[in-house]
Amino acid sequence: MNKCIFLDRDGVLNRERGTYTYRLEDFEIIEGVPESLKQLKDAGYLLVVVTNQSGISKGLYTREDVKKCHEYLQEHCNHLLDDLFMAPYHPTITASLSRKPDTWMIEKAIAKYQIDVSQSWMVGDSPTDIEAAKKIQVKTVQIESTYEHKPLSALRDYTVQDLYQATQIILSSSS
Ligand SMILES: [Mg+2]
Repeated sequence: MNKCIFLDRDGVLNRERGTYTYRLEDFEIIEGVPESLKQLKDAGYLLVVVTNQSGISKGLYTREDVKKCHEYLQEHCNHLLDDLFMAPYHPTITASLSRKPDTWMIEKAIAKYQIDVSQSWMVGDSPTDIEAAKKIQVKTVQIESTYEHKPLSALRDYTVQDLYQATQIILSSSS
């Protein structure tokens, strides 16, 4: 069994812009992210991104745009991410249990990588990230968003300002 950090993307790895991020010129990796991922990887965690990208089903951008952003992300994080799952759906267009706060995307990762949820964590900035994580019973760290439409979830275990702080909590809790 493996332990894993499930990572939301926008607002955790790259800067939240308050709108869809799908162009490379808008894709700004947050300071400290590559170093944090390295620390988590060195501690033996799998690193799996689970991201809602409903702009695809809305026709605002394509899977190819997302792929390019994810290749850019991997290049700038020394290919430390083990996998990236995305949910392209939106309930106004196609219902899906993949989209957070539902859990199918995470459950697929659990099955694929034989993940032990009792040793695993979710880091996200939206209440929906935390809700999804609680359904599968992983521990949660919520990054406090600078955007008003993302309140803190009552279900979160910890609150931090960025992935670097989340990393320090995770590493001190698991040692
Ligand atoms: Mg987010």
